[in-house]
Amino acid sequence: MAASRGRSERLTHHIRGVSIADIYSKEKRSEVMSKIRSKETKPEILVRKFLFSKGFRYRINDKRYPGKPDIVLPKYHTILFIHGCFWHGHENCKAAKLPETNKDFWKKKIFDNIVRDRKNIGKLRGEGWNVIIIWLCEIKNKSDRVRRLERLIGEIANET
Ligand SMILES: [Zn+2]
Repeated sequence: MAASRGRSERLTHHIRGVSIADIYSKEKRSEVMSKIRSKETKPEILVRKFLFSKGFRYRINDKRYPGKPDIVLPKYHTILFIHGCFWHGHENCKAAKLPETNKDFWKKKIFDNIVRDRKNIGKLRGEGWNVIIIWLCEIKNKSDRVRRLERLIGEIANET
């Protein structure tokens, strides 16, 4: 270990399907990695981080359940979906407005998604899961997100 300290290390990693091999010093590598990480700070990751910080433990993207839920909290019998407003057809939401071109195409596509979501959620609830939907518009800006996530704790904890 001591021998490799301070030496440049060969590092191969993949960014968006492109393989790059490069030589980084330790400092440079952690700088690059933190840049990659910050690009991955998607809303669902913020929700995960929040839950983790509050002591909740969960599984992510569990394919065993209908709809491949974003977050499963087995201890609380709770399943969380984080839904993009457009793709999942958030009712009365500005972010779900259909584009003017190919309106019928989008209408059908989004409608199909809504039907599929309802079916999946119905199945899960039928199996006794507490299903919570978080819409992206609820967590996009920080103050909204803080409020939504505080409420989320109650929604999860009510289940026990
Ligand atoms: Zn919305």
